[in-house]
Amino acid sequence: MKHLKRPINTKACSVCKKIKPFASFYKDKNNTTTGRRSNCIDCCNKQERIQRKSLEGCLRRLSIWSRERVRKDKRYKNVKVLFTTEELINKYKNDFNYMKLYKEWKASGYQNALSPTLDRIDNTGHYSLDNIQILTLRDNSSKRNHEAVGDMTRYIGVLPSRPAGKFTAHVKFKGKKIHVGTFPTAKEAALAVNSKCEELKIPIKNKFVNEDKTEKESTKTKRAVG
Ligand SMILES: [Zn+2]
Repeated sequence: MKHLKRPINTKACSVCKKIKPFASFYKDKNNTTTGRRSNCIDCCNKQERIQRKSLEGCLRRLSIWSRERVRKDKRYKNVKVLFTTEELINKYKNDFNYMKLYKEWKASGYQNALSPTLDRIDNTGHYSLDNIQILTLRDNSSKRNHEAVGDMTRYIGVLPSRPAGKFTAHVKFKGKKIHVGTFPTAKEAALAVNSKCEELKIPIKNKFVNEDKTEKESTKTKRAVG
């Protein structure tokens, strides 16, 4: 490769062709000549923004995001990501529902509320290919606001049971998990947990459940418990 004469510690970006100082390039230990990437930070970021919005790039971002989440968020300390980025892409790149969601997001001008997010179907399980679904951010957070805090529901002993859209109730008693039943709403499941506790003569788990309105009543009401 022919070297152009230019001030020391500068290089030309391979994309925008501008000559910029080394500090304007991300470090790249694979580049043995300059130790920097061939395109400048501005061009990298621009490409990254375009890439993130592509059908596959979006899946790649979701994969990276799930890995960051389990690494950084203490509530996810027992959760594992059991797929590679390539496996996630292969599962969804031709998936009808994902394509539909992706097209709607694109058509909206990439509105944040419609951006695809990764949701665990069983919120106590790992990020595995058979335990994930892709939801819009809006649907994913409305699921949380109505029913869950973090990855559980707001109630002790109540877990979302989907894709059925119901809630299972259980009580831990003498080291055993007693299944109480499946209920249409989280509140009903929480009340069932309380009844079971009374039956077993142990303190009730969800003391504030009666103050909670049902999901329909409380769409915009701030929760007493959270
Ligand atoms: Zn550039």
